[in-house]
Amino acid sequence: MSTDITKLSVTETVAAVAAGDISKANLHATWLDRARLDDLNALSWVADRVKLGGEDGPLGGVPLGVKDLFCTEGVPSQSGSKILEGYLPPYTATVVEALTEAGAPLIAKTHQDEFAMGSSNENCAFGPVLNPWDRGRVPGGSSGGSAAAVAAGLVPWALGTDTGGSIRQPAALCGVVGLKPTYGSVSRYGMIAFASSLDQAGPITRTVADAGLLYSQMTGKDPRDATSVEHPDSVEPVVPMDLTGVRLGVPEELTGEGVEPGVREAFEATLDLARSLGATVAPCPLPHAPHALSAYYLIAPAECSSNLARLDGVRFGLRVDPDEGLDGMYGATRAAGFGREVRRRIMLGTYALSSGYYDAYYGRAQRVRTLISQDFDTAFEDFDAIVTPTSPSVAFELGSKTADPLSMYLSDFCTVPMSLAGIPAISIPNGLSDGLPVGFQIAGPAFSENRILGIAAALEDGLKFDGSPAWIA
Ligand code: GLN
Repeated sequence: MSTDITKLSVTETVAAVAAGDISKANLHATWLDRARLDDLNALSWVADRVKLGGEDGPLGGVPLGVKDLFCTEGVPSQSGSKILEGYLPPYTATVVEALTEAGAPLIAKTHQDEFAMGSSNENCAFGPVLNPWDRGRVPGGSSGGSAAAVAAGLVPWALGTDTGGSIRQPAALCGVVGLKPTYGSVSRYGMIAFASSLDQAGPITRTVADAGLLYSQMTGKDPRDATSVEHPDSVEPVVPMDLTGVRLGVPEELTGEGVEPGVREAFEATLDLARSLGATVAPCPLPHAPHALSAYYLIAPAECSSNLARLDGVRFGLRVDPDEGLDGMYGATRAAGFGREVRRRIMLGTYALSSGYYDAYYGRAQRVRTLISQDFDTAFEDFDAIVTPTSPSVAFELGSKTADPLSMYLSDFCTVPMSLAGIPAISIPNGLSDGLPVGFQIAGPAFSENRILGIAAALEDGLKFDGSPAWIA
């Protein structure tokens, strides 16, 4: 057994702890040392010491990095925003609490795009996170801190959230695994909301088995989140699925134009790998998918304009010009506290919901959303899973898209349709293009996490990197 704890997967670490080969004290000290090496701006907060708790839980004491937007009692929870700078919540999000109890205590919080709006982490009020593969490039977003921290070996595993791609796209750009679960299968209680009908927490890990392990302890109905449901299946430890006869659908709409040649090549090579393992691969139409981004960029801003109305200088965080009257204080606080992208979306969303325009914009976007869901329902009559590249490009250079929000929005072209449909999807590392990681996305019907994890695990071994240059020495 390797003595370098940090090189073990979490699943291996849990087994080593159970066998008595690694003590929890050693485990926590080792990972605290790793977290303190952060020179990527990936971590927004690091624990002084890892609290014990959930001693004998199934997660073995392996400490967890958690995206800034999860409320954690007494620990800064800022959602990447100046308006919540230094905010210390009086309670902890259900998932973080559940994972602590299951034996994955909090070790660090991770930087993110402000209120999870972004694809590059450049919208973070506390500075961008750097991609550990190339520090001149973005880690993806909005869970870029979590993805970069896992890729660089600063934390053993982490939580992200995904509204339109924010777990999968940064996982792809940092060469790690990211699972966006079925909407409703994980409690949103204590997650600082962006777009409530889309937001979903999920694991960012180094292996598929680790993603399954973390997810198995996150899912469940929470009386404090009315949209949460019990998973109909028990989430099993991940075993690679026998791909013989497994039908994979490739939507032309999400794999053609706009996908970089190097990404396309890596994707095709993985389709060949799947075929060699017995899967069948065939085209699978998703006719409305090209409209997903347009619908998303009405629905998500509409919901955010409503969710962020609570940040007004009265109850949480920043307060500016309290002597200027209520309206003056609201305006001054929100102008000073929100970044450009957040203000842009609040304005778009407020407009889309305004009387006279509601039906033309928000209502129509919701109808497109239904059509997209129906496309997936039809597709899953003939296919076990749908596969696409996770992101049309590899990690781009810092600053290269900040002046052009529409080109930034295109980063989510392949991930947003699944978000609108509420279905689960996983991104796994798919080799390199020009030395930078590519992601392969596998999506399945609602509650098919066991299936997509099994397919991912079957492909994973054939796609491993030789060592990882992202690892901080
Ligand atoms: N990049 C997308 C956006 O900016 C998705 C973000 C997310 O999933 N939180 O909205």
